[in-house]
Amino acid sequence: MPNVSEKAVGSGVGAPKVATCRDCGAEVLWARRIKKDGTVGNLPFDPVHSPEGTHQLRRTKDGEIWADWISPKQRHLSQTLRTVHLDTCPMRPPRNG
Ligand SMILES: [Zn+2]
Repeated sequence: MPNVSEKAVGSGVGAPKVATCRDCGAEVLWARRIKKDGTVGNLPFDPVHSPEGTHQLRRTKDGEIWADWISPKQRHLSQTLRTVHLDTCPMRPPRNG
């Protein structure tokens, strides 16, 4: 296995866009995901993998990054989980609070 940077979902063409959180300045990766109502939205993810993560990112042939929600039962199978930055951003209040 080649040594892959933790920041990279893939490499070369179509590598994910790294952006900066407007609230805390941390690096985030934007990924598309299908919301509960069936529409497509964008979510920021922390750039590093985390065992606490809830989503896995994948890259399509077109170079788009999509986030798949992984059910808790399946999470132990993945070593590349990511957390939604909205949940970890120190400058944002908890969504439920
Ligand atoms: Zn932030």
